[in-house]
Amino acid sequence: MAAAIALHRRGISVAIFEQAQAFRRIGAAINLTPNAVRVLDGLGVGQHLRAASFSPEFRVSRTWDTGEETLRLEMGKLALHKYGSPQLMVHRADLLTALENALPAGAVHLNSRLIAVDQTAHGVTIHLEDGTRRRFDGLIAADGIHSTVRQLLFEAPDLTYTGMVAYRDILPTARLGNYEYQSFVKWWGPTLKSQLVTAAINGGSELFVFATKEEPEISRESWSAKAEIEDLRAAFAGYHAEARQVLAECQAPLKTALYVRAPLHSWEAGRVALLGDACHAMVPFMAQGAAMGLEDAAVLARCLERDENIESAMKAYVAVRKQRASRIQQASSENEWLRSSGNADWVYEYDAWSIPIEGDCLTA
Ligand SMILES: Cc1cc2nc3c(=O)[nH]c(=O)nc-3n(C[C@H](O)[C@H](O)[C@H](O)COP(=O)(O)OP(=O)(O)OC[C@H]3O[C@@H](n4cnc5c(N)ncnc54)[C@H](O)[C@@H]3O)c2cc1C
Repeated sequence: MAAAIALHRRGISVAIFEQAQAFRRIGAAINLTPNAVRVLDGLGVGQHLRAASFSPEFRVSRTWDTGEETLRLEMGKLALHKYGSPQLMVHRADLLTALENALPAGAVHLNSRLIAVDQTAHGVTIHLEDGTRRRFDGLIAADGIHSTVRQLLFEAPDLTYTGMVAYRDILPTARLGNYEYQSFVKWWGPTLKSQLVTAAINGGSELFVFATKEEPEISRESWSAKAEIEDLRAAFAGYHAEARQVLAECQAPLKTALYVRAPLHSWEAGRVALLGDACHAMVPFMAQGAAMGLEDAAVLARCLERDENIESAMKAYVAVRKQRASRIQQASSENEWLRSSGNADWVYEYDAWSIPIEGDCLTA
């Protein structure tokens, strides 16, 4: 949707084909770091999001058992001043609604599952499950970690189960006593696979809780599967009392297995390009999965605006984006970023609306 809005705002007509029958209010919260919010502001949806979000004052790292604070990074006014955009914690559904409202009327075709793609030197034809065919100048495949288009047109490394499951829940901050809900707090666990993250959403009235634990057996990937609350509490029984206090207030956590794919060699083939998780799915430990998709959208729209040759525009997009997304995929897997030191600037200050595109100086 972000790519469609960015293209539409540049006068390029778009159509979205989505397999779901409707957009539903599922999932929990999403952390939109300043680089992601900058893209959303450029799409004209940032103000709408701010109303339903919460901007944390600090980013805090704490040690799971002792509670020792190992990092405190100012995120509130200082981040706004430094990066030009805040960090926003929002419900996923509010992000989707904000994007949906900014789309051109009639652009979204629901219940439209793509099953095949053909391309010639002049255009791309998509084949939908219901037998419909539609022809376009180009195709952007933002079809997620299981991308059909990637399987059809690109090398497709196997999906790898990370050996971890993630829990997510939302609870009222009023139940938390003195817990520091105004900050984004990451409790670093005894292993890299164990962690607990808390951050307020919805004007500070609710707390988003995200936790991961090791689960060696292959587990189910789902956005709406319910977790056993006792399993969650048992897995964090050794954590500091303040962390356990948060889990004691959780009531209906969701559980999803975490999967990743190895980086792809290429993201474009002729008039087709991949975007988002379709080309760079990552573990969510830097909160950069959706952020990378948003950055992709802005850069791709800029490339297509300045170059009528779709094939070379797609190549320019990948040239700008691949190195950054791959670096963040890698750093997310390592899960050490901002544990006790580290620089947030290389992630947060990226401006997808102004990052140079190859050949910029020639066309300026
Ligand atoms: C537990 C967890 C927490 C996360 N937290 C954060 C966070 O805080 N911040 C952040 O930036 N990122 C986060 N992420 C990552 C983020 O959720 C993803 O990177 C992001 O959703 C990817 O967006 P996407 O549009 O590329 O793919 P998706 O969100 O997967 O969307 C793909 C869409 O394509 C549709 N589709 C698929 N196949 C077809 C087809 N054949 N035909 C038609 N439609 C099709 C799907 O129905 C879906 O609507 C998190 C991920 C997880 C698992």
